[in-house]
Amino acid sequence: MIATEFEYLAPSSLDEAISLLTQHGDDAKVLAGGHSLIPIMKLRLAQPKFLIDIGQLPGLSEIREDNAAIAVGGLVTHHALETSELLKSKLPLLPETAAHVADVQVRNRGTIGGSLVHADPAADLPATALALGAELRVVGPKGQRTIKADDFFVGLLTTAIAPNEILTEVRFSLLPAKTGAAYVKVPNKASHYAIVGVAAVVTLGKNGHCEQARIGLTGVTHKPQHAVAAESSLAGKPLDDPAIAQAAGLAADGIKALSDIHASAEFRLHLTQVMTGRALKLAVSRAQR
Ligand SMILES: Cc1cc2nc3c(=O)[nH]c(=O)nc-3n(C[C@H](O)[C@H](O)[C@H](O)COP(=O)(O)OP(=O)(O)OC[C@H]3O[C@@H](n4cnc5c(N)ncnc54)[C@H](O)[C@@H]3O)c2cc1C
Repeated sequence: MIATEFEYLAPSSLDEAISLLTQHGDDAKVLAGGHSLIPIMKLRLAQPKFLIDIGQLPGLSEIREDNAAIAVGGLVTHHALETSELLKSKLPLLPETAAHVADVQVRNRGTIGGSLVHADPAADLPATALALGAELRVVGPKGQRTIKADDFFVGLLTTAIAPNEILTEVRFSLLPAKTGAAYVKVPNKASHYAIVGVAAVVTLGKNGHCEQARIGLTGVTHKPQHAVAAESSLAGKPLDDPAIAQAAGLAADGIKALSDIHASAEFRLHLTQVMTGRALKLAVSRAQR
């Protein structure tokens, strides 16, 4: 199928983009890398009359260090995340996660903003955004606001951003000393989307016990979410094999898993436990280095 007819608009400033979005309301859609939007337009699941291409907007493609945080522009591609020397040295979980996205063609076009706003339940970056406690800066007609990743993903392909807002920047606080992080996934063999993906970030306290654990899950259910029971089971514990095994066993607690042609709900729940165990082991070994 081909997409229904639309008008292509390419604003040259953020203000112009927001006023076009506001003017055209539900008839308009932001276009970034196009690697999620165009496929759903071809399936006619989305039929916008106006495509507002933000690809040429200035200032949204940078990765920079800013006030004990790394600020990643909304238009930064998966490839740029994967290859950034700054991220490799300061926040390697982001390049590690980006390297799991699809193939090189998709990584060259797809953006962090598009991935987070599209909120595909099997996308990789949302799990890592949760585990890193990211903050998302969005700009709309009333100015700028910040949404925590924990509050951003509200349902299937649905987020807290308004239709006339643009995600301009994602901020990740630098991690404290003795923190390790890892992203692991079982991919769909065709698309590489996660059947189950797990991002884990653990911080060791002075006595080597767990000071904080954050675990983001993707692929398991209709939206990315924390493995809440697993996170709290680790608090204050020595991060040894029994504690990790116990946390992994709790990873799918309270989650109603998806069931589809790729994996049954039962298999997804099993993978959630196995992959949480793997992510935690890797994160702990990195924190202990
Ligand atoms: C074959 C294939 C395989 C893929 N495999 C994976 C995979 O393994 N893992 C994975 O995580 N992803 C995968 N993807 C998705 C890919 O990462 C997408 O590029 C990404 O999810 C969307 O980014 P985009 O820049 O292309 O967004 P677009 O397609 O341009 O936009 C997606 C949505 O976000 C909105 N939007 C985009 N940017 C902004 C912004 N800055 N502010 C507000 N709204 C915005 C758009 O209006 C649209 O609703 C795959 C895609 C394809 C085609």
